[in-house]
Amino acid sequence: MIKDKVVIITGASSGIGEATAKEIAAKGAKVVLGARREDRLRQIAEDISAAGGEAIYQVLDVTKPEDNAAIVARAKDRFGRVDAIFLNAGVMPVSNVSALKTAEWKQMVDVNINGVLNGVAAVMPEFLAQKSGHILAVSSVAGLKAYPGTAIYGGTKWFVRDFMEVLRMEAAMEGTNIRTATLYPAAINTELLETITDKQAADGMQGLYQTFGIAPDRIAKVVSFALDLPEDVTVNEFTVGPANQPW
Ligand code: NDP
Repeated sequence: MIKDKVVIITGASSGIGEATAKEIAAKGAKVVLGARREDRLRQIAEDISAAGGEAIYQVLDVTKPEDNAAIVARAKDRFGRVDAIFLNAGVMPVSNVSALKTAEWKQMVDVNINGVLNGVAAVMPEFLAQKSGHILAVSSVAGLKAYPGTAIYGGTKWFVRDFMEVLRMEAAMEGTNIRTATLYPAAINTELLETITDKQAADGMQGLYQTFGIAPDRIAKVVSFALDLPEDVTVNEFTVGPANQPW
């Protein structure tokens, strides 16, 4: 059950993270919001409180291990424990490989891969000690299929898929009682496209999202469903997109 679960959300300052925070807080979860933009986090926490929910926030750069440790410590200080972490922070500055936007390649690896690893490393000792915990992560349809323009972004999301599947297997083999859920969203209307600097890639994505994009609260409901599942259920393939989407 979601009620009273303490859930850390990375990338909670907009899009899927914000929608998820509001959705699960409305169902009684105690949410701990993390991202870099403090003003946005403060506003979202205030919105949740005004609606009768419980939320705190902590400025978090997922690429920094110490920030990940700090948000876990903040959750424990305030709520006494951590039940779940939603590893959602991500960037998507897509472009063809020939554009050689190497700084953006590095940024995607740092945020989308190292950010996930840092979050897991920060929370795993708590989950092992309490013999329970739920790790949820956002991959993408780009983590299931190859799309031109997404060699690096897609690669980071293929990593998330592999990592989460192995984590699920190891948790079962080790009997740690750590559960996993991995999401594969398609086109979701958020701020994600704003990270694209390559004009051709941006134009292509804009068209796609205008035609097929759906609202982030659709993903929030899937996260909520996963959190609400019985303790002996772990789900590794939630592919989420509208019925008319061609992939
Ligand atoms: P948004 O751009 O709206 O949200 C991204 C979030 O990540 C923001 O809260 C941002 O906060 C945070 N973030 C970025 N860099 C960092 C960092 N270094 N440290 C901490 N937080 C960071 O996009 P979405 O909501 O769409 O994206 C959420 C996830 O969903 C991403 O992993 C994305 O790859 C994935 N996804 C999205 C799809 C879509 O179509 N929108 C489809 C498939 C997957 P801040 O800038 O304040 O740090």
